[in-house]
Amino acid sequence: MQLCEKCQHTLTLTDSDFYCEQCGAHYARQALCPDCHQPLQVLTACGATDYFCQHGHGLISKKRLEFIAVSQ
Ligand SMILES: [Zn+2]
Ligand SMILES: [Zn+2]
Repeated sequence: MQLCEKCQHTLTLTDSDFYCEQCGAHYARQALCPDCHQPLQVLTACGATDYFCQHGHGLISKKRLEFIAVSQ
């Protein structure tokens, strides 16, 4: 669970970022590998986005991605 840095409210994950319903703050989201919890490399090709783990887990299905909020 991700909490807002400013008000400690639970953040809501959207298609493009994290959003705090309490105070309206937005945070960038960082995709993590579900197996090793390290940041994933984002690959964009032909309009598609793929997430690649550089720690031996290869391409990660979008359904398995974990996201954390990153303050900007
Ligand atoms: Zn907030
Ligand atoms: Zn991994």
